[in-house]
Amino acid sequence: MIITNKKPISIHNDPWEAYNDVIDNGQLTLSNIEFTTTNLCNMRCSHCAVGYTLQTKDPDPLPMDIIYRRLDEIPNLRTLSITGGEPMFSKKSIKNVVKPLLKYAHQRGIYVQMNSNLTLPQDRYLDIAEYIDVMHISHNWGTIQEFTDVGFGAMKKQPPIKAKLKLYEQMLDNASTLSEQGMFVSAETMLNQSTLPYLDKIHNEIVNDMKCSRHEVHPMYPADFASSLNVLSLKEMKEAIHHLLDIRDQDTWMLFGTLPIYPCINDENDQQLLQRLRDAKNVTMRNDPDGRSRLNVNVFTGNVIVTDFGDENGTISNIQKDRLTDVFNQWLTSDLAQSLNCHCSEYHCLGPNVLVKNMYYPDTDFRQKEIEMHAKHIFS
Ligand code: SF4
Repeated sequence: MIITNKKPISIHNDPWEAYNDVIDNGQLTLSNIEFTTTNLCNMRCSHCAVGYTLQTKDPDPLPMDIIYRRLDEIPNLRTLSITGGEPMFSKKSIKNVVKPLLKYAHQRGIYVQMNSNLTLPQDRYLDIAEYIDVMHISHNWGTIQEFTDVGFGAMKKQPPIKAKLKLYEQMLDNASTLSEQGMFVSAETMLNQSTLPYLDKIHNEIVNDMKCSRHEVHPMYPADFASSLNVLSLKEMKEAIHHLLDIRDQDTWMLFGTLPIYPCINDENDQQLLQRLRDAKNVTMRNDPDGRSRLNVNVFTGNVIVTDFGDENGTISNIQKDRLTDVFNQWLTSDLAQSLNCHCSEYHCLGPNVLVKNMYYPDTDFRQKEIEMHAKHIFS
């Protein structure tokens, strides 16, 4: 295999931006695979996508040869995401699955993101540092109590408070030390009723205490796993974004994902906010949290879901029988994908994903909006 030189990640080079596929290939193209490598975790966050499916023992994973073969078959693979559970929790999983995947990606010059809670002993993270392009963590903790309550909200037998606090300290220390050693640590905050009063504090902690390279901000959309948290109204959301732009550290990259604001929505305030975001220093936006053209593979079952659409679609295939490129192309032809698949090149916009549409624009026909936008640009 060829070892390629990867360009450093920056506001000008975000490999997880879905629009890259359109620029490179003229259309949405499978470019990202997310692997669920463990069901184990030392925490049980209320907002965790897999919080209620976490187990106490992992089953045996599929042979790595099947996984390599399916990855080899994806010519445009640009990014790989590793998620759990906590991917660095199980030493067996690290040895048998995580490290082999990291080495595979390294050899192909593929960018790697790991989704971690960063609360484990530092050695574990240092051990894989050279293979990680983005260490992605969640930071929604306005108060310590929020961490001790929500961070373990889905755990039946609660650990002692001291043990919980130790994990918080470990997370802060890991983030700052790994950042100082050159790791790109990106902390994500959801905009919801719980974080809204504490956005300044959370941002300051991410920038000054944790020394993160990036603060990601995503509205929280209701899905099963997050149903106990409160979403913001569209008005509150926009005020929160303005506020963050007012108070943020302009030297730190701020990435807004899945914002429910689109060029085709006829609202002057929305368009002003969009322009403010476009003009702001070190601010970028993504239509999707981590790319539109991606599938999630469970390494134990081989089951494939469309990441972020799992609740809508469930399992759509299995890598033991299907190529991932075929699965993705099949998904693109589905009614759900087609109903969302709008594209306005003038704005590098790929439209809302299903969560955004269901929450804020259930009655908006974005394919019709697309026609109107294209007509507007032809005649303008
Ligand atoms: S791509 Fe879709 S959401 Fe974006 S401006 Fe065009 S029609 Fe609107």
